[in-house]
Amino acid sequence: MQAEITAGAAGREAVIALDGLNKWFGAMHVLKDVSLTIDKGEKVVICGPSGSGKSTLIRCINGLEQHQGGQISVEGVELGPKTLSQVRREVGMVFQSFNLFPHLTIKENCMLAPMEARGVSRGDAEERSMDYLRRVHIAEHAHKYPSQLSGGQQQRAAIARALCMQPRIMLFDEPTSALDPEMISEVLDTMIELAASGMTMVCVTHEMGFAQKVADRMVFMDQGAIAEIGPPERLFHSPSSERLALFLKRIL
Ligand code: ADP
Ligand code: MG
Repeated sequence: MQAEITAGAAGREAVIALDGLNKWFGAMHVLKDVSLTIDKGEKVVICGPSGSGKSTLIRCINGLEQHQGGQISVEGVELGPKTLSQVRREVGMVFQSFNLFPHLTIKENCMLAPMEARGVSRGDAEERSMDYLRRVHIAEHAHKYPSQLSGGQQQRAAIARALCMQPRIMLFDEPTSALDPEMISEVLDTMIELAASGMTMVCVTHEMGFAQKVADRMVFMDQGAIAEIGPPERLFHSPSSERLALFLKRIL
């Protein structure tokens, strides 16, 4: 028993640590003392009303937004101007709008960053691209341009592209909210498979079925702060605040 407890404690390893994070846009205080530690392999789902700071929070984690107070550490490295590129190497991000380059094929989209940012050879980048395109089940579309694919396929290509950089953490910002309803599940299924592979994941999403299936913890953000955090079942079935209860009533 004791050994088990010790092993459990030793097995936990914080890969993302947010400590007293604060962020302003001009005079607007958009993140207010956010502290959150995410362990290796953990899946965290973030939900909350529009404007509550969800995107800003995850954009801060890979340095797309600069924070003004508090600390962000990724794999023990504190994020700052000198460590920005080092931290970014570890963090992949998928956006609501897929942001694929329209003039490149799906495969070329996947090859670009490993070749340009990592010096991977063309042959290796191609092989790696095909590996990940197979993993998201769109290898047969590798030679097509983004406009020739459905939204769901484009988003899976965007996930493959992020994975080609071999990140240790994946951030998702409402990856299914721009998709037609019939394409949502193919993207969520890809994310579920990624979760099962052990990836550390932080997902902003209002897909509560996904949250229930995948999330170790769910965060409810409201007005720039973490209003509630806990296992999804707890937040769904016994929200502590009226705000979360109302939010869930609206989205479920
Ligand atoms: P969410 O993703 O939860 O909808 P955001 O993180 O996008 O919320 O936004 C939080 C707040 O910050 C909102 O009030 C939004 O208008 C504001 N905001 C977001 N990005 C910017 C920006 N680049 N400049 C100014 N204000 C911004
Ligand atoms: Mg957002």
